[in-house]
Amino acid sequence: MRCDVITLFPKVIKAILSESILKRAIDKGILDIKVYNIRDFTEDRHHVVDDYPYGGGAGMVLKLEPIFRAIDSLKKIEEERLIIFLSPQGKTFNQKIAERLSKESRCLTFICGHYEGIDERVKAIVDEELSLGDYVLTGGELAAMTVIEASIRLIPGVLGDERSALEDSFSEGLLDFPHYTRPSEFRGMKVPEVLLSGNHGEVRIWRRRESLRRTLERRPDLLERANLSEEDKKLLEEIKQTM
Ligand code: SAM
Repeated sequence: MRCDVITLFPKVIKAILSESILKRAIDKGILDIKVYNIRDFTEDRHHVVDDYPYGGGAGMVLKLEPIFRAIDSLKKIEEERLIIFLSPQGKTFNQKIAERLSKESRCLTFICGHYEGIDERVKAIVDEELSLGDYVLTGGELAAMTVIEASIRLIPGVLGDERSALEDSFSEGLLDFPHYTRPSEFRGMKVPEVLLSGNHGEVRIWRRRESLRRTLERRPDLLERANLSEEDKKLLEEIKQTM
């Protein structure tokens, strides 16, 4: 996966890239990411990137010229790009979008906003606006890294065991089942007997039932869209009768 991140805070991005799964993906050559400082694309002596809003009001606005120059210069390196602007007003990022981006052959080019906002005219070069959710962050950096992290872990070879991503919440439209590891008992709290039984068929059904139960309890909206098998529907009926 090729990514470029255009930001006022490259150190924030680089810190996140230096640990855990993203570092591993870079080391394995699965993630090729470059970080660009918006200030490097200013042309004045003081590298000014913000200005007062037309019409007055609170806060500053991220100027558009440095962003356009950054994109112009990147376009010389790589032609095929998907330009993503992180914004609380964008489409809410989810697992489906992560799946799509993980298969993207174009270079994912993230523009991180800051201040009160970005000059609206930047949208002319943006292909897609993505939001992390209905809240406001100070800048787009953590949002960009969230999008990259969630997408890269879906690429085969990034996780230790590829089945992990397939079993995660949302990958099949449901929440994940509960997980346990040793010891089998801790301060009176026991691991469900079935998981110790060695009976793979029963373990599979238990996990599916718990996944359905959790989704029903916590995110019933997901169930309405999930692709449920006949067995799932039967399990769901059983769960509802015990609730
Ligand atoms: N005034 C803007 C608004 O209400 O839509 C919010 C500006 S916010 C303080 C600064 C930048 O942080 C945004 O331009 C965007 O890049 C990023 N940001 C803030 N919240 C975000 C979210 N929920 N998802 C993605 N990016 C976000």
